[in-house]
Amino acid sequence: MGLSNNASRSITILGSTGSVGRSTVDLIAREPERFPIEALTAQSNVSLLAEQAVSLKAKLAVIGDEALLPELRQRLAGSGVETAAGVAAIVEAADRPADLVMAAIVGAAGLEPTLAAVRRGALVALANKESLVCAGPLVMREAALHGATILPVDSEHNAIFQVFDFDNPDSIDRIILTASGGPFRTLNLSEMREVTPAQAIAHPVWSMGAKISVDSATLMNKGLELIEASFLFSVPETKIEVLIHPQSVIHSMVSYVDGSVLAQLGTPDMRTPISVALAWPGRMATPAARLDLAAIARLTFEVPDFARFPALNLTRQALQSGGSAPTILNAANEVAVDAFLNGRIGFLDITRIVEQTLSRVPSGPLGELAAVHEADGAARRYAMQLIDPTDDDRVVRVQTRGRNRR
Ligand code: NAD
Ligand code: MG
Repeated sequence: MGLSNNASRSITILGSTGSVGRSTVDLIAREPERFPIEALTAQSNVSLLAEQAVSLKAKLAVIGDEALLPELRQRLAGSGVETAAGVAAIVEAADRPADLVMAAIVGAAGLEPTLAAVRRGALVALANKESLVCAGPLVMREAALHGATILPVDSEHNAIFQVFDFDNPDSIDRIILTASGGPFRTLNLSEMREVTPAQAIAHPVWSMGAKISVDSATLMNKGLELIEASFLFSVPETKIEVLIHPQSVIHSMVSYVDGSVLAQLGTPDMRTPISVALAWPGRMATPAARLDLAAIARLTFEVPDFARFPALNLTRQALQSGGSAPTILNAANEVAVDAFLNGRIGFLDITRIVEQTLSRVPSGPLGELAAVHEADGAARRYAMQLIDPTDDDRVVRVQTRGRNRR
């Protein structure tokens, strides 16, 4: 049963001013009657948030940074759009009765609003991969408990979702996650040591937010996606392969026990996977460029180089350790990427900091949200101390936590 063209589906976009958020707004603006907006949220881009809220006639606009609430109110005065601010207000926005919530906040900050949508059994279009990486078992358990449907927006997982036989999971032999290889695919280690944030965020194929662009350059993004795929599709890490495919035409593949390999192809435009989630289980037209295979002529593939890109093995290790190890890896990576973008550490330090944090901060079971927060906090403090070793106080607190756990 598809979503017929005249059936409407109300939408909340968490992170509407970001790269995925703007692509979502772009699609919805083409069919506003079909997708009425319940709420939009953003962290600090108050002018764009207000503009989107007015043009899409949103019921509510929420700004994360509370200091910007007066400006949001002023910009929306007389528009009839309700306003709110702060972390709790973003969670409340996710809790409002939209049929579908687009989870497009970046980082672990997206976890609680995403969980709020999951816990009321909504359709959840999930771009925010970090929420699955830092709390995969919790998110998947709550989704099953409350009847939420998670629709993957990450292009690889959206591709897998389209070709995965959910009725016969035993017929699946493995998942093949494709990766563009990022901007430094062909650099050697000494060249990689010198790269700047500007070079790292200039992705050869995709135009994305700063954090995921750096993750694509270290291949940590593919590692996070490996964890994401394992939770989304209940497939063990040993059955997920990573394949470098610089043209990013094949967005991922599923290999079956009979030897068949099913793939989803398309031009690299996030509006295609976003549309799959918005219109699911139907389809909608998008302005994404049509695929012209004759013009592309050649698709190439390589195995990843684990020596230059250690992030892939680190994520496999975290997934094998289980519990809060992926939470720790994710938090350390967020801290390290932020430090790299702010010029405080070099490019190769990112995975070094993740590796050291993962090996030194003890992991434990991941039951409730409190355990996620504890592991996330301990990892952030440890990673920050590695970046700025003069702060002895942080080391002491991390060690104390470690002892208390035993
Ligand atoms: P972005 O940085 O462009 O946008 C992030 C959005 O989240 C913005 O609207 C921002 O206001 C909001 N935000 C940032 N910090 C916040 C906080 N602490 N609390 C509340 N809101 C906050 O990021 P993006 O590239 O759009 O990526 C969003 C998510 O989608 C990430 O998890 C990313 O990995 C995933 N993703 C992105 C792409 C892409 O093409 N950009 C592709 C696949 C997956
Ligand atoms: Mg992806």
